[in-house]
Amino acid sequence: MTVAAPPIARLTNFINGQWNDSHSSEWRDVVNPATGETLASVPMGDAADVNAAVEAAAAAFPEWRRTPPEDRIQPLFKLKMLLEEHIDDIARIITTENGKTFAEAKAEMRRAIENVEVACGIPIMMQGYNLEDVARGIDEIMIRQPLGVVAAIVPFNFPGMIAFWYLPYAIATGNTFILKPSERVPLTMRCVYELLEKIGLPKGVVNLANGGKTAVDALIDHPKVRAISFVGSTPVARYIYARSAEKGKRCQCQGGAKNHVIVLPDADMPMATQIISDSAFGCAGQRCLAVSVAVTIGEAQKTFRDSIADAASTLKVGNGLQDGVQMGPVITPQSKQRIESLIAAGEKQGARVLLDGRNTKIPKHESGNFVKPTILDDVPATSELADTEIFGPVLSLIHADDLDQALNFLGRSAYGNQASLFTSSGSAARRFRYEAPAGNIGINIGVAAPMAYFPFSGWKNSFFGDLHGQGRDAIEFYTDKKVVVERWAKEQSRKF
Ligand code: NAD
Repeated sequence: MTVAAPPIARLTNFINGQWNDSHSSEWRDVVNPATGETLASVPMGDAADVNAAVEAAAAAFPEWRRTPPEDRIQPLFKLKMLLEEHIDDIARIITTENGKTFAEAKAEMRRAIENVEVACGIPIMMQGYNLEDVARGIDEIMIRQPLGVVAAIVPFNFPGMIAFWYLPYAIATGNTFILKPSERVPLTMRCVYELLEKIGLPKGVVNLANGGKTAVDALIDHPKVRAISFVGSTPVARYIYARSAEKGKRCQCQGGAKNHVIVLPDADMPMATQIISDSAFGCAGQRCLAVSVAVTIGEAQKTFRDSIADAASTLKVGNGLQDGVQMGPVITPQSKQRIESLIAAGEKQGARVLLDGRNTKIPKHESGNFVKPTILDDVPATSELADTEIFGPVLSLIHADDLDQALNFLGRSAYGNQASLFTSSGSAARRFRYEAPAGNIGINIGVAAPMAYFPFSGWKNSFFGDLHGQGRDAIEFYTDKKVVVERWAKEQSRKF
């Protein structure tokens, strides 16, 4: 007797408090990048799906906006408890659809929870300010009010965390919310929305519409959507920013990255090596804050090169659900191919392949998209590769004579997501902090990811907009300021 394989789950959208079928006839497979196994089928939603989500969110807005902030945050306290309770289940889903290790997936969910905790402070954070007697008998008050329907479009590399840069703040400030997850990793948010169903939010306050470009365009073009948040690659970020501006929308778009670390000879080399190795190769290099270029100065060229090659060559690569695995696969076969061809391009442009992770096969995972840690030495600073986002486990080494020259390299980069320095010199660190042209700065830190109560910054082609995700910026982004100037005639007041 043959046993039929279980049917592949066909994903639905969460609209107006219910799971609804998509109107779309186009579907994509969701594939486990470690095994090649198809996990589910996701609808590539169309304008009808998006319209239904926007109408539900718009209908929920007037009552939700009138709900006192103290009451609006009660569901978030419940959400925190549920996320804590289910963190292992969610992390397992993240690993299965994204490939990162279980420990990395769990760490990602901790950052998600942290954002829920911070948004619980909305009754204080959303307060405006006021001044009596701006002129005799006249008072002035600044009040923050929610915008209405807001939407977020998120990438594949943090299936659990990035939606939380937006969702908790958006709803706590009184907006209603639509999420468009990445079509490559939609299962994590399906699980999160199953928890959101249980926390007592009124129907339509949070909605989820699956899809790709068509759904994104429909969100941007819908007149009832007031604000768009985006995280993803630079060309798409630029496109969404321009299209949103054309439609008169508030917009914040995080883009791609090429992050530099400068290693001075006075750095604690064992510590620097460990931390930079984690940054470059953790999450298979698919982190927007992954270090991808190490600029060594003086004798650090040799000491760091030798020690990073040692550390990288010992990393255990495999299925992120297995114990002891330190690095998982990259997201798709196309991504593996692109990374391998960029390594070859680097070689052609003059780099020397010090550690070669191409053509990796992991036993029992022959269909997985594995690239082992790769190090390119002597990458010419002016080569195309030196400023191309690889988004894989590839670290380029460049040598500089001094900090001036190293800062010059950073200045030339089109990106400005993160820059780090490893040193034991306070004055070098201060100079770096002052001059480095990036939004997130690390001093002896490899992944300078801001905590939820700070903005997740980014400069140059890594960010289009002015207000970032997380913390106080999120409150600014999700509220309109209303200024009231008030005078009451004396006689009128005296009647009472
Ligand atoms: P992506 O740009 O391909 O996709 C991001 C989102 O945009 C997805 O939801 C996708 O469906 C949608 N999308 C894709 N193409 C579109 C188009 N033409 N028009 C409209 N929408 C479109 O990015 P990705 O591959 O999912 O994620 C990796 C990228 O994200 C990397 O470049 C990485 O650096 C960047 N990233 C940046 C940050 C940051 O904070 N700056 C954080 C995480 C990831």
